[in-house]
Amino acid sequence: MTEATVDLGAIAHNTRVFAATTNAEVMAVVKADGFGHGALATARAALTAGATWLGVATCEEALQLRAAGVDAPLLSWLHAHDAGLREAIAAQVDLSVSSLEHLHAVLADGLVPTLHLKADTGLHRNGAVAEDWPALVRRAAELERQGRVRVRGVWSHLIHGEDSTAPGLSAQVARFRDALAVATGAGLRPSVRHLANSVAALGAPETHYDLVRPGIGLYGIEPDVNRTYGLRPAMTLRARLVLVKQVPAGSGVSYEHDYRTSCPSTLGLVPLGFADGVPRSAGPRAQVWCRGRRFPVAGRIAMDQFVVDFGEFSPRPGDEVLVFGPGGQGEPTVTEWAEWAGTIPHEIFTGIGARVPRRHVGLPVPATSTEELRSG
Ligand SMILES: *Cc1c(COP(=O)(O)O)cnc(C)c1O
Repeated sequence: MTEATVDLGAIAHNTRVFAATTNAEVMAVVKADGFGHGALATARAALTAGATWLGVATCEEALQLRAAGVDAPLLSWLHAHDAGLREAIAAQVDLSVSSLEHLHAVLADGLVPTLHLKADTGLHRNGAVAEDWPALVRRAAELERQGRVRVRGVWSHLIHGEDSTAPGLSAQVARFRDALAVATGAGLRPSVRHLANSVAALGAPETHYDLVRPGIGLYGIEPDVNRTYGLRPAMTLRARLVLVKQVPAGSGVSYEHDYRTSCPSTLGLVPLGFADGVPRSAGPRAQVWCRGRRFPVAGRIAMDQFVVDFGEFSPRPGDEVLVFGPGGQGEPTVTEWAEWAGTIPHEIFTGIGARVPRRHVGLPVPATSTEELRSG
């Protein structure tokens, strides 16, 4: 069977690692279908393990969670100012607001939207820059006094996702502190102030405020180049060999014959390709795991399939191939695939195609308690 197996026990464990590292609340970021792991299953696993909030990019993502019965506090942060937001407001989805246009777009007759005002503290992506911030918070405070909005949060997003000691972090925290002071000066009393992504949640406590927003770390990728935290990768991408054949030395393999066998070889065909998210650019360096060892990918990864050179080994049709997994047996990890492809694990995860079923395993999990993690 071809599938991405998702270990919800790993996601629960990783959530507990975040919860144990902070006194703030934990928002599980489940945008882009839970980084490809399945938003609903991930959300449920994280909520059972100590997360109290969920974060998504779009209102559609938020509404899918609500439709599935998820009633946890939920923030959606990326929407056009002309998007139909009424349904999200009615479903008690908190909305992020980065400009006066956004603020006016979320006003809905008969409904009071709950808002998180976003400051730009240097990333220069979403959020209001310091020059525009005072007008935004003043107008929001005015609307709050009129009972037309409720401002629950003030927030921002950090520049660095990989280094908790990156120079420039303190300047961002300082800009955030300034933004909070301006908001308070305008009469706002946000109860949920938040700034930290995975790496800051683990390594930069001065960014925690009331809530941290881990994404990639929840899925088990160590976010910090400086150290590891015992996170457990949740996804294993697997398939079975659909064909095995012997070829002579010097046989060209796959399109354009970029690869030639160096000796008489057994080739195995894996029914996964770049349409399933196996990155084509990884081909020349990539390896897979089969029968307890690694073998090289032979030639170009095609849309639906790729070939493995088993050399003198004799796999059988139906043998399981791990493209990547947690790495515990020696199988390649998604981090290695990302290096081979010149990208980041996030892009590989979210690129796993719709043809690959996700199978969720591993919950209910006997909990390592937060106390044990703290003391351990
Ligand atoms: C994706 C995202 C996160 C999670 O970031 P990680 O580095 O994956 O932990 C947090 N906040 C916002 C606004 C995001 O877009």
